[in-house]
Amino acid sequence: MENGQVQRVMEDSFMNRLKKNSPGESEFHQAVYEVYESVLPVIERHEEYRSNQVLERIVEPERIVSFRVTWMDDNGVPQVNRGYRVQMNSAIGPYKGGLRFHPSVNQSILKFLGFEQIFKNALTSLPLGGGKGGSNFDPKGKSDGEVMRFCQNFMLELSKHIGHRIDIPAGDIGVGGREIGYMYGMYRKIENQFSGVLTGKGVKWGGSLIRPEATGYGLIYFSQYMLQNIGDSLEGKTCIVSGSGNVAQYAIEKILELGGKVITASDSSGYILDEAGIDSDKLEYIKALKNERRGRISEYADQYASATFFPADRSADHNPIWAHKADCAFPCATQNELNAHDANNLVQGNVMLVAEGANMPCTPEAINILRDNGVMYAPGKASNAGGVATSGLEMVQNYSGSHWTSEEVDRRLQVIMKNIHDNCLHAAQTYNSNNDYMSGANIAGFIKVADAMIAQGLL
Ligand code: GLU
Repeated sequence: MENGQVQRVMEDSFMNRLKKNSPGESEFHQAVYEVYESVLPVIERHEEYRSNQVLERIVEPERIVSFRVTWMDDNGVPQVNRGYRVQMNSAIGPYKGGLRFHPSVNQSILKFLGFEQIFKNALTSLPLGGGKGGSNFDPKGKSDGEVMRFCQNFMLELSKHIGHRIDIPAGDIGVGGREIGYMYGMYRKIENQFSGVLTGKGVKWGGSLIRPEATGYGLIYFSQYMLQNIGDSLEGKTCIVSGSGNVAQYAIEKILELGGKVITASDSSGYILDEAGIDSDKLEYIKALKNERRGRISEYADQYASATFFPADRSADHNPIWAHKADCAFPCATQNELNAHDANNLVQGNVMLVAEGANMPCTPEAINILRDNGVMYAPGKASNAGGVATSGLEMVQNYSGSHWTSEEVDRRLQVIMKNIHDNCLHAAQTYNSNNDYMSGANIAGFIKVADAMIAQGLL
């Protein structure tokens, strides 16, 4: 058999087995396939990864806990949700990854996120394993009291499975400073211990400066390094950003700081287009709208005459936010928000760079179209790793009882993003995929974890 054929046979049997062992988990299959395809050349070159069945082991979570969460709503009616923690891999450090509260949360979504987290965390160069958790609880439209009671009851069970040297959750979609606060308080009460068991804590009680900014800032640092690599920069570039939460807000902030122009923002209700550009005052408005008033992005268009609001159309086969002409695009909302149709639109608008702020926002078909058309593409596990990296820095500060200045944390974040950038390029080059950030990220992350798994024996 020729090399290509060998590859095809391996691919078929591995993916078939995965699908048989995790039926219906389409997001998880998608995340695994992306890594699998990238690391095939590594597996082919290194017999030890084959003989140790590293791929087969790495896709099987070390542990999954799923539990009932009951809480009382404001009308005195008992409510039931499902909570999870997927402890995916601890070969290079304690499990680390966010908690997502969103009605779409299920085992497939958390396994895909946990799987991505393994490689992302490995890329940060910090000793962090991979995990993810959350619940199908929807914080949208809930009162503060309801969110608090949910968080407390969620932590009542989760506390049995985590610990500052075991598993350190943080935020993700639907889990921000408020939710981390309620969960941390409950953990502290149950364990009678002030430890760094969660990251993303408030700066007055163990949190790190720059943690809220870190994912968005890191994304833009990474993109700036990609552009510098071809002798360019973000200065003067028109950018499309989706989302309006934590990642999008600080991505916009950093783009503005580096001289770029941002013309969009979105939430699940739709998106706004502001051709005049979202300036720093308008960004402050978005922050207050989203973080304090918890309002909808349509209100931005009521506030600023230069903007138009386009309501989301769930039946559409594409997302019109990506149909606007821009130099750079930053999907910062959620998984699979940018499909083949959208990628074609971006290519037609002459986009030069797409960097993922969200986890897996581009579908595999979209990624192929971008790469085939010479668009620079950064996968989330590399470009959005600044958030978890700064969580790692929060852990270091907690372990050592210290508190660094924002300049210090920001400086370390920039160094980490630069290292991830360079390591991706280096790994890609080693396996003949020059300038392919996706292959590079998957290969570099995989090798680190695979080597640690082999060194520690069959577990
Ligand atoms: N949820 C974030 C991510 O996707 C951050 C995780 C963390 O800080 O542990 O990487």
